[in-house]
Amino acid sequence: MLRIGAHVSISGGFSKSIDRIEKLGGNCCQIFSHSPRGWKFDVPSKEEGRDFMDRRKGSDVDPIVIHESYLTNLATPKDDLYRKSMDAMEKEVETAKRLGIKYINIHPGTHTGLGEEKGLKKISDSLNKLKETEDIEILLEMTSGSGTTLGYNLDQIREIIENSKVPTAVTLDTCHVFSAGYDLATENGLDEFTNEFDAKIGLNKLKLIHLNDSKFPLGSNKDRHEHIGEGKIGEEGMKRIINHEKLRNLPFILETPEDDKKGHKENIKKVKELRKDN
Ligand SMILES: [Zn+2]
Ligand SMILES: [Zn+2]
Repeated sequence: MLRIGAHVSISGGFSKSIDRIEKLGGNCCQIFSHSPRGWKFDVPSKEEGRDFMDRRKGSDVDPIVIHESYLTNLATPKDDLYRKSMDAMEKEVETAKRLGIKYINIHPGTHTGLGEEKGLKKISDSLNKLKETEDIEILLEMTSGSGTTLGYNLDQIREIIENSKVPTAVTLDTCHVFSAGYDLATENGLDEFTNEFDAKIGLNKLKLIHLNDSKFPLGSNKDRHEHIGEGKIGEEGMKRIINHEKLRNLPFILETPEDDKKGHKENIKKVKELRKDN
């Protein structure tokens, strides 16, 4: 069965995210638990948690994923930023537990001069410091490799997972991975990527797909999302991803633009059209 959804707002309360995704025609979603560009946030109250879980019981929306704030950087060499990042991660774990949410999606980190090896080690060391993670799974989102971001290839993702004692798995963001240099737009490239993923990490560790087309070409290292079928991966490429035997049963979450031309509703519709059994 096709699981397709999008990143939606929690404005008005966490439960509103479920209203929103249902209205868009989706059956899974991703949220920010607070403003992704600010540090200040409160863990939701028990009552908010209960309301959200009650609302969820009456819906078919699953999974629901928290995307960690963009500010959080577990690979930073700067002490102040690191302290804030760890505080934010700990609070995010508490938030997820309060809401009964299993997945926290993070960008692994940006080493800003520390070097790739040390940066990767710092990420897994940081994850290992998190407490009470037994009901949680940290999803490491593959990145486009711009600047000094880490997690732009399968070896780096494998290294973080191997050194992590907390439950970790992977999010494949199709725009990021394509711009990092894996040619998901062609049949061969897509097969090579899934085979390499299976050999190095194991496809059982792939839990989520951020389904985005890319404004910029293969290997550009630019993280700019485009409407489904209208970017450099293109309609044929997207169709293959959505129907690929190793990917088709995973949840697809859109992070495509919401502009004058189209929003999530139109892109969700597009994905349903491209899906062969839908
Ligand atoms: Zn992301
Ligand atoms: Zn993403």
